[in-house]
Amino acid sequence: MTTPLNQSSRRKNLPTGILSRKISFVQGTPVRRSLRESHEPVRVYSVEWEGRCRIVTGPSVALQANVLALNRAYVAIQAVPARRAFAMLWKGMAEVISVENGSYLTYDFAAWLEVSELRIEIGEVDDHEDWVRAVNFTIQVPRVIRLLTNDRFPNNLVKFSRRNIFLRDENCCQYCGSRFNQHDLSLDHVVPRSRGGETSWENIVAACLKCNVRKGGRTPQEARMNLRNEPVRPKRSPVLSHQIDSQKYACWKNFVR
Ligand SMILES: [Zn+2]
Repeated sequence: MTTPLNQSSRRKNLPTGILSRKISFVQGTPVRRSLRESHEPVRVYSVEWEGRCRIVTGPSVALQANVLALNRAYVAIQAVPARRAFAMLWKGMAEVISVENGSYLTYDFAAWLEVSELRIEIGEVDDHEDWVRAVNFTIQVPRVIRLLTNDRFPNNLVKFSRRNIFLRDENCCQYCGSRFNQHDLSLDHVVPRSRGGETSWENIVAACLKCNVRKGGRTPQEARMNLRNEPVRPKRSPVLSHQIDSQKYACWKNFVR
């Protein structure tokens, strides 16, 4: 006998009408409630489903987790927030891809829900997983989904943004080497703009306020402040690079090179 854990889902098994259901998560008031015997704060989310309102709770981190979205050809496109991934699963626009014992298994929403409930029943739940609890069901946040209607290939150009520059530089000032919160960091033109320095991946680095002021309108050589790393354009999204190294998102390595 096979268990649902070893079965990939089949569209024909979907409950009638599930494809037309709409789900949207709206963040509500944080409350304290224990979930899976943990004592972390739990937020309440209202869910609109076929015009009715249901309440979903989850640890504050669960719905903020990221899910790697693949296109139809199993190529990684981007990381999406868990609530968006659930919305697409619910609408039948995506399926869960689960890496189990080296094999890729696929599940639609109904099958993933069934597997989630089975795993709770047999106590097969790991600490690094994220779970969301609704009024009458509990479901695991998937790590990878495949978009069933998406044939586009990813644009490998990494967005040039303040956040991505800080992530590339690992939130470290590139002059003194100290690590800071992002709001305590600034962007520094290595070759100052007044000297024709460009605003580009190769000429912008993270700098703490103290170093930025000290360097002023000078080049690193003039200020005698050496860069810790040569600034380069990242080959892949720093968000992905940052997360893929954690145990939580380790399975992304199967899809992101
Ligand atoms: Zn510094």
